[in-house]
Amino acid sequence: MDGQTEFAPGQRLMQFLIAIVMGAVAIGFFAIKGCQSGPFGRKQIVEMSDTEQVDLGKQAYQEVLSDPKSKVVDRGKIVIAVKEVTDRLVAATKNPEFLRMVKIPERKYEWDVRVLDSREVNAFCLPGGKMVVYTGILPVCKTDAGLATVMGHELSHALGQHGAERMSQAKLAQIGVAAAGAGFGGSQGDKERVMTILNAGAKFGITSYGRTHETEADHMGLLLMATAGYDPAETVKFWERMKAQSKGSSQPEFLSTHPSHETRIRDLTGWIPDAMPLYRASKNTDRPKVLPLE
Ligand SMILES: [Zn+2]
Repeated sequence: MDGQTEFAPGQRLMQFLIAIVMGAVAIGFFAIKGCQSGPFGRKQIVEMSDTEQVDLGKQAYQEVLSDPKSKVVDRGKIVIAVKEVTDRLVAATKNPEFLRMVKIPERKYEWDVRVLDSREVNAFCLPGGKMVVYTGILPVCKTDAGLATVMGHELSHALGQHGAERMSQAKLAQIGVAAAGAGFGGSQGDKERVMTILNAGAKFGITSYGRTHETEADHMGLLLMATAGYDPAETVKFWERMKAQSKGSSQPEFLSTHPSHETRIRDLTGWIPDAMPLYRASKNTDRPKVLPLE
């Protein structure tokens, strides 16, 4: 659930984020903080603080919301339903047992969500906690638990600092670019061409990260939705619906780096027993509620 059409910022937004990182590199922000312990103890390189991620996410959020094509839905039953799901998930991000299982500290993010009226089957959470849900994904979600599956996954990309990690990856590449640029006596045009080529290379490197991040977000998202009181078994039903919906349609190329629906469903099924104690300990264990769609 990431890439150009499904549940994630589009390519234009990713280019925008990378452009901001390139700006940071240009003003001399070269510090490499090295390896940290990421989700589930995985080693990761993140060169941005929570505050820097919040600031970056806010800029990107403004970029998305101020786009003339973005139709923000600001009232109605669906906005209330979406907010209820994201509020419960955000509260769950502070749960000590969830944090202990995922092996991450509590994040100092500024959470917010907007619903955009669009046929796109999409949703995302930017670094620092700003979320967007497109109405096109809601029929596939069908229930609040289905939406919690999607948003649990998306919040987990932010909690796992996946965006910041990908940008740190790009920044490492950009250090090379800056060094090459410094010794580059040619015209501005030549320099820009080199920058373009190397940036394309960095982007290629970024996409190869997709699979690890997707699987990690599935795992964390399952634990998060269970902590928020959504039945983790509903996640499998959601992915069965996604599988049925995407059958026969042409697959976007980005999906090639992502887990197949079968792998995803198998992995999630294997993690459900770990998620059940979190679900049982939560205060909300109502049956899934059908989303109020027109
Ligand atoms: Zn994803």
